[in-house]
Amino acid sequence: MIAPTSIQRKGHSTLAVSWNDGVDSEYDVRQLRLNCPCAACVNEWTGEKMLDSGKVPEDIRPIRLFSVGRYAMGIEWSDGHTTGIFAYDYLRRLSGKPSVTESLTG
Ligand SMILES: [Zn+2]
Repeated sequence: MIAPTSIQRKGHSTLAVSWNDGVDSEYDVRQLRLNCPCAACVNEWTGEKMLDSGKVPEDIRPIRLFSVGRYAMGIEWSDGHTTGIFAYDYLRRLSGKPSVTESLTG
């Protein structure tokens, strides 16, 4: 199963993730915030984005990172949003670098 071996803040706006298959990804933290998959940001039924990107501050920062079980990471944001849970496979897909198993199965 795909999982990070390390997650580090790099500068003010970048999150660097090293994965257990040897791939390193870097994320712009605001892009992560905009892609928050929680029910407050994305309509659970339609998949429609509820989040108004204009309301996410340009200088949004993760305040706290926490692991959720073995499959996901939660982020507390400087705009007060705390319900965002990023499953590792979702996080990996956001990086644009599919994991080996995903690329094999298409
Ligand atoms: Zn959210």
